[in-house]
Amino acid sequence: MSEGPARHEIEEDLLSVYSVWGLNPLYEKINEILKEILRGKLKGKEIFGNLVRLRVHPPLLALALSSDPESSDWIKVRLSSLKAVAEREGFSKLAEQIKVDVSSYYERAKEILGLMQRGDWKVTIQVLEVGSIQEIVKRNGAFREMRGASLLVDVLPRYASIYVADKLGEEFILTKEAGELVFISHPSLSGKMEGEIIEHLKRIPIANAIVLKGNGSSAPMLKVKDIMNRAGSSYRLALASTRAINLGSGDPIELDPKDICRGCRADSSLNESSVDKLLRSFAVDETKVRRLKENIVERYGGKICQSCLILASYGLIFTDILNGEEKGWNKDVLNAVKMASSYEIFEKVRNAVSAGFEARFVTGLENYDYSESSNALIAMITADGDGFGALKGNSKSIEDFLSLSILFSTLMEEGLVSGARNSLEVEEKFLNLRMRESAGPRQYNFFLPITPFYVAGDDMVLILRAEHVVGFIRGLAERAKRVFFTAKELKIIPEEEKMGISMGITAGRTKVPGVYLYDASRAMLRYTKEIAKKAPRDEFTVQASILYAKSGASWESINKFKIESVDYDGLWRSLLWIGTEDESPVLKSLRIAVSGDNAIRSSDFKEVLEDLLPSGGRSRLYHEMALLRWLSDIARGMDSRWEEDRELYGRLRRIFSELTKKGSAEVWRSLYTLCSILNIVEDRVENELGSIDLRKKLSEIGRSFCEGE
Ligand SMILES: [Zn+2]
Repeated sequence: MSEGPARHEIEEDLLSVYSVWGLNPLYEKINEILKEILRGKLKGKEIFGNLVRLRVHPPLLALALSSDPESSDWIKVRLSSLKAVAEREGFSKLAEQIKVDVSSYYERAKEILGLMQRGDWKVTIQVLEVGSIQEIVKRNGAFREMRGASLLVDVLPRYASIYVADKLGEEFILTKEAGELVFISHPSLSGKMEGEIIEHLKRIPIANAIVLKGNGSSAPMLKVKDIMNRAGSSYRLALASTRAINLGSGDPIELDPKDICRGCRADSSLNESSVDKLLRSFAVDETKVRRLKENIVERYGGKICQSCLILASYGLIFTDILNGEEKGWNKDVLNAVKMASSYEIFEKVRNAVSAGFEARFVTGLENYDYSESSNALIAMITADGDGFGALKGNSKSIEDFLSLSILFSTLMEEGLVSGARNSLEVEEKFLNLRMRESAGPRQYNFFLPITPFYVAGDDMVLILRAEHVVGFIRGLAERAKRVFFTAKELKIIPEEEKMGISMGITAGRTKVPGVYLYDASRAMLRYTKEIAKKAPRDEFTVQASILYAKSGASWESINKFKIESVDYDGLWRSLLWIGTEDESPVLKSLRIAVSGDNAIRSSDFKEVLEDLLPSGGRSRLYHEMALLRWLSDIARGMDSRWEEDRELYGRLRRIFSELTKKGSAEVWRSLYTLCSILNIVEDRVENELGSIDLRKKLSEIGRSFCEGE
């Protein structure tokens, strides 16, 4: 067993957490250390496996000694199990520190520790699932309700886990991410546990639009050897055994059937006293009650249902708390919101703002707008990991299962924070330029160009200012790639496994209904995934497709994103992607477009794009003719008398050769993506920095998001 300095330091860390804070914080600390190693910020790769076993073997061992957490012996059972595992895994100082009655469970724990692989004692995997976010979003078109709904999906598993940690112990929890609480339990306990978790959840308001599923009354009878050797299939079995849980209405709230909610138009709105009662379950002081009333209830003319009110309240409270306004909210609600993984992540994003700037999260999308009469462009991004779920479901050992869960959330979190940091840099560039341009008073405050929705496990949904998408993708890819390689080194991911993150992006004006942006971005995500699955690509890539409608009327262009060709290589070349070895021709072209002093504009491609856009079954010959025409236009431009023109056409020629390298009939898609991005950036620059010297300004901004780390 290696006794390197990393082991020594980590053990000292664990010891001090254990002696000061106790058992549950110790297990949380182990999780944290595993994440830090994956992030590459902590040495200790050689003991990663020891740490994983230290985290996940004690609960399985404990259930061989007792299945009665109510008993006063339960703590002895937990300590004895930990001590036995710590000893075996080489954490002898920690083991020494754990004092247990010698005659007690400890001897027995040592005896059966070696038998776990073949052990017959009963255990189960218990699951509590929050119904799919898509269903919830479908009901509620408004951004604030969507944000509240995503927050609840993020928060509920974590909030429920407090109860499990309290009752059984933190070590029993396998994951509490992505709308899912998964923990090790005993078949004789699961029913009661589930009932008690539901009671615990009722301490915070839960919208009846949220569907909870659990397997408490139907948990599979497993043996410890199943979990040790077939963790993935045991987990799938547990998932398959979940049933919808009837939450009951708790305190019945009076409904007036004559009134329909103006938010969802599906439920009856609440009467005044019910509204008041509900608001007071969120807010404990009058200012905050009024804040909710003015911003939510009055916006709907007082006609709002229970679900919409609850979801919108969470949405508003989330941003308030992120902006540091914590006073006056109900303590349980406050604590629950702060448990959200999106809260932790966006805290980090805010801390990344450069000194001298003061930034706030937007409270409404209108904060993004250029002016009251001029709507800005925003992009909704839906992303998820490629094949993450399958990898987890196929894991053999419980150690792999836990490592993968931790890996996925680390990968997404790290990627998101890094992407957001890049996007912040671009935003600061805009601000600096604006200060240079404007003669008026200097403006230092700004809104963070990102609106948090949902970040949990391997899923994320967020809104960005549209001109930041490229910087965001770049930042995300750089970090995620590094975590991926660390995981490969640790052998958490099988040698030949390819992985990646796919994204669907829709960009439109702030006034476009949220549910529309959301649906379209999901459709784009499916499009990206289908291509990524079939295209030849690097072992790790981040890829995205983008649908852009400058004015609300042109949304039918989603029809362009149907895959009719089998030319997956050509389709792949039209996406925005960054791999381990290379990046997409579109991104390379973008870099070329903004290099030099005068950027290429989207209008420079207008004719050729119109020529190329497929309509009425044009032939291959037509397509090639169009490209030839483009090439001869470029050649003519390169003969110009003006040095500036010659330089610009020279770059167009390089773009031409990037995009047409493999002679695919899908070239128009690449061009379409490139034009969309250029046009999006132009929109902001023209509106905020003015159109004088537009090409020059575009170059300056463009370079800030085309550079790598
Ligand atoms: Zn409603």
